[in-house]
Amino acid sequence: MTTPTAHALPSYIDPSHPGPWGMFMEQLDRVEPHLGPLARWVETLRRPKRTLIVDVPVRMDDGRIEHFEGYRVQHNLSRGPGKGGVRFHPQVHISEVMALAGWMTVKNAAVNLPYGGAKGGIRVDPSRLSLTELERMTRRYTSEIGLLIGPDRDIPAPDVNTNEQVMAWMMDTYSINQGGTQTGVVTGKPLSMGGSLGRRDATGRGCFVVAREAMKRLNRPMEGARVAIQGFGNVGNAAARVFHEHGAKIVAVQDVGGTIYNEAGIDPHALQHHLKVAEGALREFPGVTVIDDASFWGVDCDILLPAALERQITEANAHQIKAKLIVEGANGPTTPQAEDILWDMGCTVLPDVLANAGGVTVSYFEWVQNASSFFWTEQDINMRLDRVLSEAFEPIWNVAQEKRVHLRTAAFIAACTRVLEARALRGLYP
Ligand code: NAD
Repeated sequence: MTTPTAHALPSYIDPSHPGPWGMFMEQLDRVEPHLGPLARWVETLRRPKRTLIVDVPVRMDDGRIEHFEGYRVQHNLSRGPGKGGVRFHPQVHISEVMALAGWMTVKNAAVNLPYGGAKGGIRVDPSRLSLTELERMTRRYTSEIGLLIGPDRDIPAPDVNTNEQVMAWMMDTYSINQGGTQTGVVTGKPLSMGGSLGRRDATGRGCFVVAREAMKRLNRPMEGARVAIQGFGNVGNAAARVFHEHGAKIVAVQDVGGTIYNEAGIDPHALQHHLKVAEGALREFPGVTVIDDASFWGVDCDILLPAALERQITEANAHQIKAKLIVEGANGPTTPQAEDILWDMGCTVLPDVLANAGGVTVSYFEWVQNASSFFWTEQDINMRLDRVLSEAFEPIWNVAQEKRVHLRTAAFIAACTRVLEARALRGLYP
């Protein structure tokens, strides 16, 4: 990874350890030569517009008071209000939140949603907290970042370790502080309080849509395509079901507890029932072979879908991959070095900023439905999701072909062009 030039780094990022923000800087370096006259404005993407760090004091159940560090970063607001999730994790830090906010700017612009990019988080291990402590922490954090958020200003959503319940508390706290119910302040809410149909499966469904478009252009059939999936959570599980419904065959699944393989195909509905309802372990699913975790990457398959963690496909395992198409359900699963190796091997990588944009797309639909207090059918939502992603896919694919660049760079070109055009047209104040 190249270290970004010192002048481009804000003083609060350590130049010797730029972290994920350094990776985002490197991606911007790759896109800059393709921006033409708009490159004049590119420095605007190398600095988040607003970075808020808040203290979150929480009264614990035993009477002690603990303090947690909370963040909300608005990376760019040129195209609309900020949009991006909130992460509760013990390793959350400023560089990570800044990078995740930057990737949201790119993701939202890549699929042409009228949003800027933002992200938030609390540096906490939520598994250590009781439900009431979690609620108090969420409410105090929401109140502290109330300076920045709002339906027209910045709209949080769930991310790692946050869910519909956390969104319900955030919406309630913000509404109490405003003196009236404001459903549109967060997305990913429960259905009973303004959530959207189709939101839960949206990211996995989006993975399928972009994979289908890529397979068409690679002249490969989806019917019978063999798919290996890492992660069987929100994204992996939904993706498995949608691929299966369209004739693909799930041949391998890996989760935190192991890896299973079946050349004849694994039924994702049966697997979901086994894991969620029967509370079984992945390795105990009947009719499959348990293989060791490292072998997962070398499984004979057509499509590989990492849907768990970042930095999974690296220089160490990229050479083993047999798939011709990688669909990044997770954020940041492929290192830049591994991506170069895969490129040389003729493997197409559908980047996270496009492949997992289905979630934020249906979040956008939720926000639109909240603004009009009129709710759409699930069929309508899935149809519109398909259209948004297919329309985003085509120009990104074409730019990658014309300029002979990675699809990630092509997605960055499309997105940064939109953001910087808006920046240039709005002009500089004063
Ligand atoms: P999740 O917590 O629901 O599921 C994570 C899955 O990964 C689980 O099956 C878990 O067992 C598995 N896993 C964890 N550690 C693993 C390991 N070491 N090896 C193999 N498997 C492991 O999370 P999710 O919501 O499905 O998110 C997964 C990824 O997708 C994250 O990178 C997230 O940022 C990204 N993403 C999610 C959404 C969304 O709408 N949920 C949207 C965009 C991006």
